[in-house]
Amino acid sequence: KQHMARGLPKQKPIAGVKQVIVVASGKGGVGKSTTAGKQVLIGLSASKTVGILDADVYGPSVPKLMSLKGNPELTDNNLMRPLMNFGIPCMSMGFLVEDVAPIVWRGLMVMSAIEKLLRQVDWGLLDYLVIDMPPGTGDVQLSITQNVPIAGAVIVSTPQDIALLDARRGAEMFRKVNVPVLGIVQNMSVFQCPKCNHQTHIFGADGARALADTLGVQVLGDIPLHLSIREMSDRGQPVVVSSPDSPEAEAYRKVATAV
Ligand code: ADP
Repeated sequence: KQHMARGLPKQKPIAGVKQVIVVASGKGGVGKSTTAGKQVLIGLSASKTVGILDADVYGPSVPKLMSLKGNPELTDNNLMRPLMNFGIPCMSMGFLVEDVAPIVWRGLMVMSAIEKLLRQVDWGLLDYLVIDMPPGTGDVQLSITQNVPIAGAVIVSTPQDIALLDARRGAEMFRKVNVPVLGIVQNMSVFQCPKCNHQTHIFGADGARALADTLGVQVLGDIPLHLSIREMSDRGQPVVVSSPDSPEAEAYRKVATAV
């Protein structure tokens, strides 16, 4: 679907990119990057050209998720060429810093890193650029939304109260800066025991739906807490690629269709 971004005066599109979708969360560890990565892979299988920009400069996870490492080459125009896996161009702070080097940066340095990631990458032509945002509602998130026209934000949350509260803050921030919230992805809602098939709602059952109702947006999908999602992501073999027929992959596909 096409989304219309309302442009602010300072906003400038990213060269070659038709639409920017951000995937955000209030809190870390709720499955934002995993969701962002899968969105991108699914978009590709739907014959859209999609790229992923990992804007989580402190805790970049795209290199691991997409099984990529190394430094980007520079083009003749001095732009960074994204690294590719699964046919997807990816850019991440993780490609620019040492693996274990602590990222101890002052605010201004973070901003200039973000500026580089937004403006100095040669994406070629993309239907969608999915930006994996850092968790929370700070300067980095604000500055991205103010610099680039964004078609919409997908918010990822677990059904736990504390995560939902932070997710709500995130949604309100996007609204303030006129970025449409496309909906909420509820992650890790149900765990089904592989031995006895009993279902447990570890973080609660329906919290994201209640939040979606409060915000007047949709629940874009419900992803179960599943061992293979974690294992495959850690191996850089996302389930939508390695086991496309599994129910977990289907859950992510549903989200992609809803967006
Ligand atoms: P965030 O980007 O919000 O910090 P991640 O996407 O990095 O979160 O996910 C945190 C951890 O949880 C990762 O190890 C990931 O593989 C795992 N994970 C995410 N979603 C699921 C899920 N639905 N089932 C099992 N593990 C998950």
